[in-house]
Amino acid sequence: MTAKLYYDDPYAREFDAHILSQSEHDGKFHITLDRTLFYPGGGGQPCDLGTLGGVEVVEVAEHGEDIIHITEAPLEGSDIHGVIDWPRRFELMQQHLGEHLFAGCLWNLHHIHTARMRIEGDNVSIDTDIPADMMKILEAEAAANEAVWADIPVEVIFPDMAEIRERARKLPPENAIPPVRIIKVEGVDYVPCCGIHVSSTGQAGPVKVISCENHKGGSRIYLRCGRAAYRWIASVHEEVRKAEAELVCGYEGINEKISILKSQIHDLKAKNEADIMRLLKPIADSILSGAEIHGAHKIVRHVMKDSGQEDVKYLFRFITESHNDVIAVLAGVNVEGVFVVVGRNKGNKSVDVRQAFTRAIEILGGKGGGSPFCAQGWGKNSEAVDKALNEAVNVLKESMN
Ligand SMILES: [Zn+2]
Repeated sequence: MTAKLYYDDPYAREFDAHILSQSEHDGKFHITLDRTLFYPGGGGQPCDLGTLGGVEVVEVAEHGEDIIHITEAPLEGSDIHGVIDWPRRFELMQQHLGEHLFAGCLWNLHHIHTARMRIEGDNVSIDTDIPADMMKILEAEAAANEAVWADIPVEVIFPDMAEIRERARKLPPENAIPPVRIIKVEGVDYVPCCGIHVSSTGQAGPVKVISCENHKGGSRIYLRCGRAAYRWIASVHEEVRKAEAELVCGYEGINEKISILKSQIHDLKAKNEADIMRLLKPIADSILSGAEIHGAHKIVRHVMKDSGQEDVKYLFRFITESHNDVIAVLAGVNVEGVFVVVGRNKGNKSVDVRQAFTRAIEILGGKGGGSPFCAQGWGKNSEAVDKALNEAVNVLKESMN
């Protein structure tokens, strides 16, 4: 049986203990002590880390009445000095109490119940039983921060079950054996908990909600508390500062500037497209006037020099969009290779272009694909471009016979 020193004094960082047992399991060492400051984890709070006799503790677990310390090297001697990673533990205590404050306020203000909570790195996540909208969440966040500034003592009490049933935000598990450990923050929270917390709300630091998503009929809310909240605020501020410098405005103006830039980009794109279409019109007219008539269809073929995917796609759109009867076999050649598109207007359902495209792209030594109305891809053998397009046209004609 291990004496749980972490409950006696949550602020103690070092301790001396006697080694009760040490055994090797899959290359790791499982050590039990007569007493420990290493919290084994539980109630959503991860276990403590630190060292035993200078050897790193990589995991701590509870097994019945014993706390198992897991190391990657054996311990020497029979007595040991243990040190817990205090900055990490303090942050976990802050995060844990911050969660209590937020969950307590969400319950008190809106009767939204927390079904599960978890601390992972800088993140605290809580799952609620019913959906929590952002307005309610932010009200609970504001109330939790008020509780921080009120610097209320955090009490650890063991009341009788009648009082617990009457006052607790959440009941202990059915199999809990009294006395049940209750964490009480007067006026804010009263809940069964096996975790370790800072001793007053003022030490929990800021409580900041980061995001909320739908989760199993309720909400999953992500928070940052204490030093983790401070780190988050500092990193957000750094990003905001960069955006302010980039956009030449104060933080209040960032969204307005982004809206203006988005609308400018939209206008420029429209103008750019109109310019391209104007430049392409004479080319398209000339290509269409040379179309080869095959039954009810017109087949056009054209190679654009020093042109890539974008140019070919614009030309393809220009030619096929307004001509239901045209099948286009187009290519663009530049230093990267040759881009080919074989296609027709979506409204023209009578021709499947994929076989013709496949023939062309085989000749060009490339790959690609598409749908019955349009297939495209890149090839390497630019010098074979005329042959590839001719072959594609032949396949199209055969398929239409
Ligand atoms: Zn707790």
